[in-house]
Amino acid sequence: MEPTIEQKIRTYRRHFHITPELAWLEYSTATFIADELMALGFEVKRAQELMDTKNLMGLPDKAANDLAYEKAVATYGVKKVESFAHNCTAVAGIFDCGEGPCVALRFDMDALPISESDETNHLPYQKGFISKNEGVMHSCGHDAHMAIGLGLAHCLSENKESLRGRIILLFQPAEEGVRGADPIVNSGFLKSVDYLLAAHLWSNIPLGKIVCSQNGTMATDKLDITFYGKSAHAGICPEEGNNAILAAANTILELNEIQFKGQDLRRVNVGCIEGGTARNIIADNASLKVELRAKSQAVENELLSELEQIVKHSALKQSCTYKIEKVGAASAAKGDDSLAHLIEEEARQMNCFDELVLSDCVNRGSEDFTSLMSDVQSRGAKACFIGIGASLPEKKLQHHTPTFDINEDAMFLASELFFRMIQRLNRRH
Ligand SMILES: [Zn+2]
Ligand SMILES: [Zn+2]
Repeated sequence: MEPTIEQKIRTYRRHFHITPELAWLEYSTATFIADELMALGFEVKRAQELMDTKNLMGLPDKAANDLAYEKAVATYGVKKVESFAHNCTAVAGIFDCGEGPCVALRFDMDALPISESDETNHLPYQKGFISKNEGVMHSCGHDAHMAIGLGLAHCLSENKESLRGRIILLFQPAEEGVRGADPIVNSGFLKSVDYLLAAHLWSNIPLGKIVCSQNGTMATDKLDITFYGKSAHAGICPEEGNNAILAAANTILELNEIQFKGQDLRRVNVGCIEGGTARNIIADNASLKVELRAKSQAVENELLSELEQIVKHSALKQSCTYKIEKVGAASAAKGDDSLAHLIEEEARQMNCFDELVLSDCVNRGSEDFTSLMSDVQSRGAKACFIGIGASLPEKKLQHHTPTFDINEDAMFLASELFFRMIQRLNRRH
């Protein structure tokens, strides 16, 4: 008997959960998705066809890249994998149903550098679909997001006669660290889009709750800062050195102050510091990993220029030079109210959600879907970022932890909601 859509979605999710890949290394994931989309009659776009590959941010090192690439080649063969080479792991399926609106839906693909729990009450372990890629885990639900996308692809191909317009299923790499959206924006791939949607499942929100437009995501910049000084004997002639550690230390202290300026929400964090070689040497290098976040792009831009000033004068004080490298960025964006209303109506008609929220501003960190949203909105298209509750009974699970899991029932709700929204937007045009 042909499996139901629900069974297919569950199988997809578990497949992705077993084979997680880190940001920019989604070679097997992209190849698998391309195969499925083609089999369902989609026109498939890959890599450079939907990514501007000039300035990919925060790329992994060569060894990690080679390992992931070779693994994918061993599974799928070089012919299928090579089109995604050099970290160009974006893939999209286009379903052309003639005249009508262009509706795009985005699904993120990457996993996290976390070792999955093998506690007996962790369901993926219990049911035998725990990550087989040691140290890497789908711990944010992106496995479920991709499964929703492929489930939707099945729905679309089964209902082609009743559909109009163009539907784009966009599978985006490197959401973690907010790196993957910008190359897609810069490629112009979304320029004909009229409506853009994405959903995130949340294990810390009750199953049955939906937020039709999540507006609490913050603009953010992820930065690697390096100071270059000059080493010297710390006892005999410290004055001949240029102390990179002092430049970094001054930067950290001053950065900490700027988040408390003004009324607007600002976040600044130095999460990692490295520098120097030995206690009796003036350090000739020091580096910091920093992130900035703000509720609006204007405040984020202010933060960024304040950071640049602080780094500049901290370096100058120690006669050091410096480099600031952007390794991730996402803009702030707000969903369109009219679209949120349509989502709410469709969700209500499903009779599966018992708590419907039109929009909220709950702070859920950052998410680079906002960059795609602001891109399409700048051309008059409408976009919303939906939040769907996916909690498991009697469990309080957090995203980005080894015991993370999602309630798979939420995937079926998301997939159906997307299908209904496509039909609804078809009727509007
Ligand atoms: Zn995440
Ligand atoms: Zn996520």
